[in-house]
Amino acid sequence: MNVPLLDLKPQLAALRPQIMEAVTRIIDSTGYILGPEVVEFEQKIARYCGTDEAIGVSSGTDALLAALMSLDIGPGDLVLTTPYTFFATMGTVLRVGAKPLFVDIEPRSFNIDPEAIEQALAADRSSGCHVKAIMPVHLYGQCADMQRIGALAEKYEIPVIEDAAQAIGAEYPFADSGKTVWKRAGSLGLCGCFSFFPSKNLGGIGDGGMITTSDSVFADTVRSNRNHGAEPKYYHSRVGGNFRLDPIQAAVLSVKLEYLESWHACRRRNAALYRQYFQQAGLIDNPVTLPEAVYAAFAGAEQHNHHVYNQFVILVPERDSLREYLQRHSIGSEIYYPLSLHQQECLRAKEYQQASYPIAEHAAAHSLALPIFPELTPEQLAYVVEIIEQFYRTR
Ligand SMILES: *Cc1c(COP(=O)(O)O)cnc(C)c1O
Repeated sequence: MNVPLLDLKPQLAALRPQIMEAVTRIIDSTGYILGPEVVEFEQKIARYCGTDEAIGVSSGTDALLAALMSLDIGPGDLVLTTPYTFFATMGTVLRVGAKPLFVDIEPRSFNIDPEAIEQALAADRSSGCHVKAIMPVHLYGQCADMQRIGALAEKYEIPVIEDAAQAIGAEYPFADSGKTVWKRAGSLGLCGCFSFFPSKNLGGIGDGGMITTSDSVFADTVRSNRNHGAEPKYYHSRVGGNFRLDPIQAAVLSVKLEYLESWHACRRRNAALYRQYFQQAGLIDNPVTLPEAVYAAFAGAEQHNHHVYNQFVILVPERDSLREYLQRHSIGSEIYYPLSLHQQECLRAKEYQQASYPIAEHAAAHSLALPIFPELTPEQLAYVVEIIEQFYRTR
C-alpha cells in the first residue's frame, strides 16, 4: 500500500470543473490585479473567521510581513514569539529589522507557553519595553492559549499578531460568565495572518495569503502597504510593497472555501481513527505520544478547542530510523521542524546560539508528521499504524 504524506489530486479531481471555470472566468475578464473576485473572497474570509475585515495578500509570509510593517515595527524592536514554527514567523521579524525574542513552548500542544510569555514581558518591562508585538503561532492547526495570551497582551498593551497560517477554521473556547464562547483563529488578536500555500487546509493553486482584523485603522494601513503604500496612486507617504492577492487564486479559493468545513471534519475523523488504531496497538504514550486538543474555556468544561489538524504530529523515540522505515514501506512523513529556530545558522548572534529552549529542542528531535489529508482511507491509516507497530516490535 502507498500512503503519501499529502496528495492533492483527489481534491482536484472532485472540483476540477468548478476550478477550471473560475480560472477561465478571470482570464476572460482581463482584470488581473485585485478586482471584484478578491473583494468577494476577502468578505467571505472575514465572515468565516468572525472579523470585520480581511485583506488578501500574496502569501502567508507577506501577511506576516505586512502586519509587522503596518505596526511600524523595525530596528530596536523585539517581537515575542515561539522558536518552534515554520521559518517565516521569524524570517519576517528579521526582515523588518526587528529581533525575535523567543520563549519556550508547551510540551503537549507545541504552542508558545503563556507562563514563559509572562516572565519575558515582566523582564522586558523592567529593561525598557522593547517588545512591540506578540506573535503566537497556532501550530499544526491548534490555536495557542489565547485566553491567557490575550490577558497578558491587554495587561502590557502589546498587539497580538496571530500566525494562523496552519489554522484556518480552528476554534478556541473562551469563558464568558460560566458559558463557553467559541472564536475562530484570526479573530483572537489584533490580526490574523493566513496562508493559502497548497498544503494548508485551504490551499490555492499557487501562493496566497490573507490578513484578518476588526481594527479598521489597521486594515486601512495594511491595504495601503499591500500596494506600495500608495495613497492616492503614485503618492507615497509610507514604503509598502507588492503584497497583492492574485484574483485567480481568490476565485479558486472561493470555490474551495465551500468545502473547507467538510475537509476539516475528514481530518478530525482521520485523527480519531489514528487514536483508535494506536490504542488498539497498545502504542499510546509509550512509545508514541499523540497530538491532543488541550485548551478548555474553564476547568471541567466538556469540550476542548477544535483542532483542524493541518498536520498530525506525533512524538517518538528513534524518530529518524522510524521515518526511514516508513519510507521503505511507501509511507510519507515529514519532520516539522528539525531545528528550534534559535539554532538556525542565519541567527548568528551569541544570545541565540547560547540560548536553550528545551521543550522546543525536544520536539525538534522527536516530532514526526504522519499523513492526515482528508481523502485518506481507514485502510491507509491502519496500515501506517501497523508499520509503526512493526517497527517498535522488531527493535
Ligand atoms: C505556511 C506558513 C507560513 C508561510 O506561509 P506562505 O504562504 O508559505 O508564505 C507562515 N507561518 C507558518 C506557521 C506556516 O505554516
